[in-house]
Amino acid sequence: MTRRWLFADQLGPHFDVGRSGVLLVESRSALGRRRYHRQKLHLILSALRHRAADLGDSAVYLRADTYGEALAELGEPVRVYEPTSFAADAFVRRRLESGEVESVDPTPGYSLRKDEFATWAGDRRRLRMDDFYRFQRLRLDLLMEGADPVGGRWSYDDENREPPPKGRATLGAPAPYRPREDDIDAEVRDDLDRWERDEGLETVGADGPRLFAVTRREALAALERFVTERLAGFGPHEDAMLKGDWEMAHSLLSVPLNLGLLSPVEVAERAVQAHADGDAPLASVEGFVRQVVGWREYVWHVYWHFGRTYRRRNTMAARTSLPPWFDDLEADSVDAACLGDVLGGVRDRGWVHHIPRLMVLGNWAAQRGYDPDELTEWFQTRFVDGYDWVMPANVVGMSQHADGGAMATKPYVSGGAYIDRMSDYCGGCRYDPKKRVGEDACPFTAGYWAYLDRNADRLEGNNRMARPLQGRHRLKDLHEVVEQEKARGDDPP
Ligand code: SF4
Repeated sequence: MTRRWLFADQLGPHFDVGRSGVLLVESRSALGRRRYHRQKLHLILSALRHRAADLGDSAVYLRADTYGEALAELGEPVRVYEPTSFAADAFVRRRLESGEVESVDPTPGYSLRKDEFATWAGDRRRLRMDDFYRFQRLRLDLLMEGADPVGGRWSYDDENREPPPKGRATLGAPAPYRPREDDIDAEVRDDLDRWERDEGLETVGADGPRLFAVTRREALAALERFVTERLAGFGPHEDAMLKGDWEMAHSLLSVPLNLGLLSPVEVAERAVQAHADGDAPLASVEGFVRQVVGWREYVWHVYWHFGRTYRRRNTMAARTSLPPWFDDLEADSVDAACLGDVLGGVRDRGWVHHIPRLMVLGNWAAQRGYDPDELTEWFQTRFVDGYDWVMPANVVGMSQHADGGAMATKPYVSGGAYIDRMSDYCGGCRYDPKKRVGEDACPFTAGYWAYLDRNADRLEGNNRMARPLQGRHRLKDLHEVVEQEKARGDDPP
């Protein structure tokens, strides 16, 4: 029986290994190839080493400089499941030709196989996420009554956009599951310290206690805590931000999901069960199910569908390099309360929820014309749940509108008014979200108008942008706003 090589994001029991034995590889050069967040490397190493400890004698655990060296050391062919990046895919296909890899089997990490997605995509002109999500709900029989959605509607998104509760510093959701570090974590921390000190490993971000599940047992405990205690409060405020509450009622399951510790279907089914048990309302459950078997799987498939060059698309001609303060997560140099807090969250944890990602970091980057490929790399390496397949659609498509509208019908840019409505940041900020010129002009509000002015030609013909584009002509001070934002240059706001 041929041994199964499991990659570091294929660590749950649904990556079936039968009785064939397992190979796990820790590649030192893969860890140092990019400037990753320190806590991201910790999570990956801890997950790999914990899996090896769980598997015991049935696993061969190799520490090598490269994957090629590990295969040579093993000295026998392996079977693999489809890896999750173009680079890794090309690697295993080359080894398939050389005989070191015996087979590349469809990955059980996602609910839909690539050939099934290709059939669904067919010759559709647009691959609409909403259509895909309905297809998934029907196919997986999630929140369905025959062919109809439970409750009569497919999406409860309009009920899930509440601002944060007024006058509260936190949402007040029950605490999420927190793992307890063990000897394996201590060893990982020592190794990372040593590699940084002696071997030139470069990381970014702060070290800190491990916040996310890295074993199957921890992942199941985190899932259980979420669906029984936090899911009920997830929906209404899922888009809201509070500076004193970074977790809100979010699941914090993206790390164990992307490490392959949980299968997306089991996660979605458990949430649906919570609704059936009366533990969580439909709007919250539907919003969560849409994230897991809708958006997440859609992003996985369009990664392969759009191809390797997708992440270099740049239809907004954004060519500004990421300034060092942004690249290095120097949150303390930022006065803008929203951006400073969110950048600090990335520095301290490598994780903020989807709205700070999209409407603070992504919005800022779009307004300043940051290069989308560089920005994709930044999100991929700075976020503990970022992977090659995750970020192109989220950054190039959704957040930067750099793909000519293949993913989203309009750019996700906004002024300070949106951030003011959806957070408690503006009250404690030296800027005023209503002002667009002057010392206290909000850089998001001014940046929004400057963005529209700079990209007017590129957005012309986009019906959803017609009103905002028209609106800029009513501003008597538009020229002043544009000049002010140019003068801001690359300095932190
Ligand atoms: Fe952010 Fe502007 Fe609000 Fe300050 S005023 S927190 S910069 S949106």
